[in-house]
Parts: sequence; C-alpha cells; structure tokens
Amino acid sequence: MKILVAVKRVIDYNVQIRVKEDGSGVVTDNVKMSTNPPDDNAIEEAVKIKEAGKASEIIAVTVGEEKAQETVRKALAVGADRGIHIKVDSVLEPLAVSKILKKIVEKENPDLVFMGKQAIDDDCNQTGQMLAAHLNWPQATFASKIEVKENSLEVTREVDEGLETIEVNTPAIVTCDLRLNEPRYASLPNIMKAKKKPIEQINASDLGVDTNPRIEHIKIEEPPKRKAGIKVASVEELVQKLKNEAKVI
Ligand code: AMP
Repeated sequence: MKILVAVKRVIDYNVQIRVKEDGSGVVTDNVKMSTNPPDDNAIEEAVKIKEAGKASEIIAVTVGEEKAQETVRKALAVGADRGIHIKVDSVLEPLAVSKILKKIVEKENPDLVFMGKQAIDDDCNQTGQMLAAHLNWPQATFASKIEVKENSLEVTREVDEGLETIEVNTPAIVTCDLRLNEPRYASLPNIMKAKKKPIEQINASDLGVDTNPRIEHIKIEEPPKRKAGIKVASVEELVQKLKNEAKVI
C-alpha cells in the first residue's frame, strides 16, 4: 500500500504574526517557518502504518516556493521514503493546490492520501475535501483514529456530539486531527539519512493546471487590541456595570 502525504510550509505556530503595513498580507521575511502542525500528524500516522507492515511506501508532497523543500526534507527525516516538490512562485489557494495534488495522485496512484485537517496560515479546511471531489474518492475528515482494514479504513472523527466512527473504502482521502497521534522528532542520524532520499521537483506550470486565484484579498488587518480589564469590589458593582455600562444584562 502506497501513502501520499501532503505537507505545507507555514509560519511556525509560536511566531507572533505581524501584518504588513500596507495591509497586503503578513510578514514572512526572516520569520521561522515549519510544517503545518496537523501535517506532522499525517506523516506520523503514515509512518506508523508502514511500521506495522501495512504500507510499503510513503511519499511526501508539497506545493510551494523553493524553500518549501525543507518541509519535505523534514518528512523524509521522520520516515517518508521519497518526496515531491511542486514549485510555484506564489502562494496558491486550496482550489489550485487540490488540482495540482490530483495530478500527482494520478501519476503516483496511492491507496491513501493523508493531509492535515486545516492549514494554520489560511485556516481554509478545504484542500482535502476539494481533492476528494476532484478524484471522486471517499473522504474521512478530522480523523482522530485510523484503523487500516483489507480494502477500507475505519476512521474515528470528532464531531460536536462526540466521536463518530465511519468506514471508507480505499483509495480514500483522510484529513488528520491533532489528536490522532504524537508526532516524533527526527533523530540526527535520520536527518542525515534524509539528505540522501530523493526529492523530485516539478514545475506547477508543467502540470497544465489553472492556478489563477479566485479570491481577491481586499485588506488584511490585525484584530482590535483588547482593552485592559478592571477589578470590581463586589458582585453588586459587577451587576451594576454589566447593566449600565456594558448593557449586556
Ligand atoms: P487548507 O485547506 O489550506 O486548510 O489545508 C488543508 C491541508 O491541505 C493541509 O493541512 C495540507 O495537508 C494540505 N495542503 C494545503 N496546501 C498545501 C500545499 N501548498 N502543499 C501541500 N499540502 C497542502
């Protein structure tokens, strides 16, 4: 069984995001970048399945600028076998990424595609669903547990009412939740070994995919700063302030 895992390079989750002065986006120069956190869970799950003898190959794929290769290299250091880097000059929308991934799926014929449930930069939660639609494959989103069966997967997902368990036939798309597993750290020897693993580079422009943006960003701005809180001396004072000042009761 072959597993393709989509990994995206995003601003590290610990970084305090700064909006550009002209409101055209966020500052990415000299900012620490990392793998999108749920994509680490996606890679970890694929590696676990391979370690259990249920997968033969893991391919990590990213769509991004030159430096996005680092994200693939990290996936190779924790257990992916080879990588694919689709080179683009600008940040693409989920629709364009999903169309590119469709081309890679058609080329590689994986049995499973693992992805993150959501990218922490655009918060779209769209790419996996769009890819499933393009391929007409079943999808299991927000997976917090995956059990591999003969020609299907049993996937537990967190929904508002609790835990839902569904079965999807393979090939399938699975988007992974942070609760799925605990991603491992790459050991130094594995980081060294990963340097020798192959990464195929493909220009997005050679895939014949329309990557034109469909969304126009009008303005990006910081959320309003929170006002400092106040301390009240009594419950009566609190109720009075909520009634007369905040006018919420
Ligand atoms: P999104 O729909 O943007 O929230 O992203 C959901 C998931 O799609 C991510 O967690 C990744 O697994 C995958 N994905 C999105 N964009 C890319 C990209 N540029 N390269 C590789 N994978 C991506």
